[in-house]
Amino acid sequence: MKKCLVHNQIFVAVMGSLKQHHVVIVGAGVTGLQSAWMLVQRGVKVTVLEKQDGAGGVWKKFANDGSCVQVPEPAYRLPPVERVLTAHSSKQEVLHELENTVDLLRDAGADVVLGAIVEKVNDSSQSVVVEYLQAGRRGVLTADHVIFCVGGLQEPRKISYPGESVFKGTMVYGVGGEPDKVDVRGKHVLILGLGSYAVENGRECLYRGAEHVTFLARSRTRMVTDLGAHLLFRGQKPAIEVAHNMLSEAYERCSVTDVMPPEIQEFKLKKDYVSLYCTGEFRALQNPTTDAFFVGHALGKMNTVMGEVAEVLADGVKTTSGQKINASVVIKCLGFEGPQALLQSLVNVTHMHSPIMIKERVWFFPCDSLAKISPKEVQAADEKVLTDMLKTPQSGSNLAKVHTEIFCYFQERPEELRKLLQSGQLPYTEIGQLSNLTLAAGHVATTQESPVLAKTVQECRRQVFLDMRHWTLSECLQLNHASWRAICERMTGNEEELPYIWEHLKSQFEMLDEQAGESKTQLQLQVQCTAKCQ
Ligand SMILES: Cc1cc2nc3c(=O)[nH]c(=O)nc-3n(C[C@H](O)[C@H](O)[C@H](O)COP(=O)(O)OP(=O)(O)OC[C@H]3O[C@@H](n4cnc5c(N)ncnc54)[C@H](O)[C@@H]3O)c2cc1C
Repeated sequence: MKKCLVHNQIFVAVMGSLKQHHVVIVGAGVTGLQSAWMLVQRGVKVTVLEKQDGAGGVWKKFANDGSCVQVPEPAYRLPPVERVLTAHSSKQEVLHELENTVDLLRDAGADVVLGAIVEKVNDSSQSVVVEYLQAGRRGVLTADHVIFCVGGLQEPRKISYPGESVFKGTMVYGVGGEPDKVDVRGKHVLILGLGSYAVENGRECLYRGAEHVTFLARSRTRMVTDLGAHLLFRGQKPAIEVAHNMLSEAYERCSVTDVMPPEIQEFKLKKDYVSLYCTGEFRALQNPTTDAFFVGHALGKMNTVMGEVAEVLADGVKTTSGQKINASVVIKCLGFEGPQALLQSLVNVTHMHSPIMIKERVWFFPCDSLAKISPKEVQAADEKVLTDMLKTPQSGSNLAKVHTEIFCYFQERPEELRKLLQSGQLPYTEIGQLSNLTLAAGHVATTQESPVLAKTVQECRRQVFLDMRHWTLSECLQLNHASWRAICERMTGNEEELPYIWEHLKSQFEMLDEQAGESKTQLQLQVQCTAKCQ
């Protein structure tokens, strides 16, 4: 008992004040840099270790030339936040901004070590020891905490299909610039998959002159339109309702009803939100956000086939249902391996406490590629947890903000953290298997005993919603109309090729703006937004 008391006293002395802390952050992507920025602002000594030779994470490693931010941009603000907002920033803009953040971090006294691969982490009650390899030399850092910000997309999933060797066309993976090297002009392109990368590749192929794009997908993905995402990210009930009502309309008006997920059909009939999230598996708000998918289908330049590859032929593929799809270019967009293997071997444990704690001194800030949620899990979920899940903006920098706040709170209150970890209230999940639901359950359990923390997290989320008001919904509609025209222009050469389908929402959006107290007279539209489309 005495020993324990002495130990606790030391613990409090070492950890009570954030300013005396040294935190090692593994990963210089959006999450790691956002957290590093917030910690440095609070006087924490920060070392960022990044295995690539530059900052940017997945944007540096896996983005293609035409990659751009999909979600409404204010929800994807990167540190520091003073930049001018544009819509759908390009890969180059995102990387430029993250590199800029590294300079600012260094100016503020943080160490950002590039080309440093973290190989082992050993923790004790006193400290954590991080071993890394840089340019063939071993380095060791002793710190108070390590936070893994290693992302959810470690490596593209690689699959080979029977008959690939007889294919006479070009077959590539849809990441890391591979598809940029393929001349698709005038060709039929087959894209395997229907996630964000698949949709992005389909869009870019049409922009680069492909004749037609077919998606071959194992399951129906719930696509979100650009405007729908703006509404969802507002976090206000009336706006969220309009977003949901737009779901089926987008599929119907753009001739994509044959691949409309069943829950959307059901929602249209019942207007029941639980059924929307209880039919079929889903990953909450992490769905591909795209107008190009709808425009491409409406123009007859895209189609989607449900099924799987059974065999690759010389001039296309045969699906498991026997359908033949002709193509001279095949692009594989088959998802990514998650971080579980990496983290489990680095820290030598298999499970973590949701949302972000592996051990007292070892944390993991998850970002994307969260596990799917089954209807059974949703039905069994606590009402509070469901509400929390549906109102949390998911994009990278926002999650990182909330998680850094939680981290800071507990560093100043180590006893509270220990009590929470021992209480058994936090969901205990395999590392890499967090879903939005277990994440939300973790958020609820973490904050429910502490009004101060609950308020901090709420304030952080409120700020995100305030950021979202950079444009009124009426302005979003105008931006979207311009973007819709630009998509048509890039796909067909004629911006008027397809009538805009959301004109009728104008008065509804004005009403929503009025209700939310947003009635800007001066439009803040930026010229480059009109030219950008995704
Ligand atoms: C083209 C593209 C568009 C996207 N659009 C959106 C969007 O619109 N909205 C959205 O929410 N998300 C989007 N994403 C998803 C994106 O993954 C996240 O938004 C976010 O960038 C992830 O950041 P992260 O820092 O968590 O992970 P990552 O970017 O994966 O960064 C992790 C870093 O950790 C490093 N690392 C890993 N292991 C080690 C180790 N052992 N030692 C040292 N360093 C290590 C990696 O090298 C990497 O740099 C997009 C991604 C891409 C590529």
